[in-house]
Amino acid sequence: MRDAEERQAISRFAEQALATIESLALPPTPENFTLWFMHHAGSHPALSQAIRRFEERQAGLTADEAATLHRSFCAPSDHLSEVHAVGERVGELVDEVSRRLGAASSQTRDYSERLSTFGSGLSGTIDQGELFAMVRELEQQTELMGERVRNLQDELNQSSNEIQNLKGDLANARRAASTDPLTGIGNRKLFDETIVREAKEAVASGEPLALLVADIDHFKAFNDTHGHQIGDVVLKLVANRLKRSVKGRDTVARYGGEEFAVLLPRTTLRDAAEVADHLRGEIAKSRLVMRNRGQELGKVTLSIGVALYRPGETIETCFQRADQALYAAKRAGRNRVMVEDALDSAAA
Ligand code: GH3
Ligand code: MG
Ligand code: MG
Repeated sequence: MRDAEERQAISRFAEQALATIESLALPPTPENFTLWFMHHAGSHPALSQAIRRFEERQAGLTADEAATLHRSFCAPSDHLSEVHAVGERVGELVDEVSRRLGAASSQTRDYSERLSTFGSGLSGTIDQGELFAMVRELEQQTELMGERVRNLQDELNQSSNEIQNLKGDLANARRAASTDPLTGIGNRKLFDETIVREAKEAVASGEPLALLVADIDHFKAFNDTHGHQIGDVVLKLVANRLKRSVKGRDTVARYGGEEFAVLLPRTTLRDAAEVADHLRGEIAKSRLVMRNRGQELGKVTLSIGVALYRPGETIETCFQRADQALYAAKRAGRNRVMVEDALDSAAA
């Protein structure tokens, strides 16, 4: 019964995916199919949220934009396969070590069996020649055992070194998988993981948890005027200034192209609005001058939406409120902070 329902749901998502691809006139590639299948199946909230933003724009979605979405949300990252590879190698090493320990323990058993045979032999015989031969063999056995123990020790040391190296590789791969390569700050993956953890913690402790969503104003025009490369430099600068301007348990991440998300644990809505305005001011007051040419690049500003996590709600819902506040800040003229409760009172 459940299987039948599941099959029905799967074919419904597949049909919806194909219909969407057709209605947006996107090429019917496996990537596009995966993208829209995941969206309709609702299996990836962050992806669906990104798609909804495009929908709000009401300008459709180009094949390039779809490809970017696929790359960001659906494609397995290289870092992840690296993590899997390291995991497999650790598994192999552990198997190897335990196999060797098993072999060593059976050798130890043999040795102690031999010793006890000698013990019982001794009690019966006192012939000197025989006694010498037995002692000689005992010596040889002991030497052999000592050598085996030394070999095992070497092998264990080697395995333990290798495990240490793999641990280092794993930590590096994990770090790379959570870092945005352009700006060096945390990426969406890091943020999504952190917000889930912090939301649980906020529910457990009863402490407030605030979310800021910041977006650079008119950045398309900036790129058009100064070029994408200078745009990239500015993104790095904004990212690092934001990161420097928060402290302690706060998390700053590059959430999308020119969009940043900031998580402020143990922070009320009012305090979060102050932090947001401080961040906004820090960016707005930066003068951007090209070092080599002395050319003024004009100002870069941020609009920021602020929301407070409500215990029990989904992360996505909280994001939507922060996003609505962000768009209200854009509509109100940009370079400003808008807080979710200001939206309620404006609507009332
Ligand atoms: P708004 O104030 O409404 O946010 O206007 P906007 O132009 O910033 O917004 P829009 O969403 O229309 O355009 C975002 C632009 O951000 C498009 C793109 O040129 C730029 N952008 C996104 N990612 C990058 C990036 O990695 N590097 C550079 N240089 N530009 C980027
Ligand atoms: Mg944007
Ligand atoms: Mg923008």
